[in-house]
Amino acid sequence: MFDLVVCGGGTAGAACGYTAAKLGLKTLVIEKNIHLGGAITSALIIPAMKSDKKGINCDFYNDFVQKMSAYGGQITYCDGNDGWFNPEIAKIVLDEMLTDAGCHIMFGTDVTEVNCEEKLIKSIKVNSKILSLHIESKYFVDSTGDGNFSLLAKNKILENYKNFQPMTLRFHVSGIDLEKFSNWITELDKNRDVTTSCVVNGEIHLSTACTWDKSRNWALWPVFGEAVNNGDLEEADTAYFQLFTVPGMQGTVSLNCPRIIADRELDPLDPVDTSKALITGRKQVWRLYNFMKKYFPGFEKSYISNIADMLGIRESRRIQGKTVYTKEDIISGRTFENPVLSADYPIDIHSYKKEDSVLDKVKQPYQLPIEALCASDYENLFLAGRNLSADFEAQAALRIQTSCFSMGEAVAKHVASLFL
Ligand SMILES: Cc1cc2nc3c(=O)[nH]c(=O)nc-3n(C[C@H](O)[C@H](O)[C@H](O)COP(=O)(O)OP(=O)(O)OC[C@H]3O[C@@H](n4cnc5c(N)ncnc54)[C@H](O)[C@@H]3O)c2cc1C
Repeated sequence: MFDLVVCGGGTAGAACGYTAAKLGLKTLVIEKNIHLGGAITSALIIPAMKSDKKGINCDFYNDFVQKMSAYGGQITYCDGNDGWFNPEIAKIVLDEMLTDAGCHIMFGTDVTEVNCEEKLIKSIKVNSKILSLHIESKYFVDSTGDGNFSLLAKNKILENYKNFQPMTLRFHVSGIDLEKFSNWITELDKNRDVTTSCVVNGEIHLSTACTWDKSRNWALWPVFGEAVNNGDLEEADTAYFQLFTVPGMQGTVSLNCPRIIADRELDPLDPVDTSKALITGRKQVWRLYNFMKKYFPGFEKSYISNIADMLGIRESRRIQGKTVYTKEDIISGRTFENPVLSADYPIDIHSYKKEDSVLDKVKQPYQLPIEALCASDYENLFLAGRNLSADFEAQAALRIQTSCFSMGEAVAKHVASLFL
């Protein structure tokens, strides 16, 4: 019998498990992959977007930054953001943080059945390669990203939005002469419209980007145009391109692309579509890598060192909570008595179409109430992470990692308070 079972040891789930165990709850994190971190480690998604470090429920994030820094897996870079992480070191650091806090972890385990009596979840069934177990707990958290746990519990699911956002398959390229590349890209982007480059802790750190939207003066656009004309890239490969260095991985860049543009919009919850996305994405990775090798000075001896083993999914299933947080709450900067978090990240909606993506800056910080993390149909089920109870636009602002960390931490503190 546990006090709290956290289903999904990803971004929000790791923060939840850590906090709950530190607060003395007998906590179990169940994770279907073989490491913690979810999107950060499996989908190679960095950096954590900047958030107010003096904000609400940031203890996990502060501890994570500190430990990652001590292990050489973190830098503070670009507008003073301390969320630049090394995803491999994050696997080790998260293991240590949670186990040191006394949290139990089951890897390679999937929740397959949820047993309920009226408004209470009583137990769950989990399956690993050889084991099938029944586990009881007083409280449960759905931090699966896709709301898989709530679906099994038959909690209400919020209506789908009319369009899907494109998925992304991130990858790493190593063996780069960064000095040579930095000299070339900073000369090409003389006005520094998008490119950054500097030395942090004796290592070159840089970032650059280019998209097919003409919102900015992309210095790389003529290079992409030439590659398309020469047949080295397809137009879809130019939809979104972004690269940046990774702390503790010299000569390596992390690619926040390809944005997977297939012949139709793909459903992130349909295994036929996600399989198509993976195959299309890996083809795009191969073209983009060969493009960089041919057109970017410094990439001559480079190689693909990692392709994410998890698709980058921005939004899939959102679960009905005791309240549904909305775009209006974000825009009005609504405040609450016991807020879960405070954030100012914009409403960030990615589109399959050109000139159709949205990045709506907010005028003031906004807060999230705990009711958006309490499942509508059960007294002992909570939500944390991108499957929270929010409308499509509000989720597009709240899905960032720093907000997910705060959600996980807030749910753990809320559950601990119910034992008092
Ligand atoms: C392409 C892309 C780029 C992004 N860029 C940024 C960025 O630069 N900065 C930023 O801050 N945010 C960024 N985000 C958003 C952010 O990374 C994610 O929204 C956030 O990490 C999601 O956290 P989560 O905890 O909800 O889900 P996840 O981190 O995905 O965790 C869910 C976990 O649940 C596990 N799981 C699922 N089902 C089960 C089951 N049945 N049983 C057991 N375990 C299960 C999964 O394996 C996973 O580990 C980006 C997102 C995408 C897609």
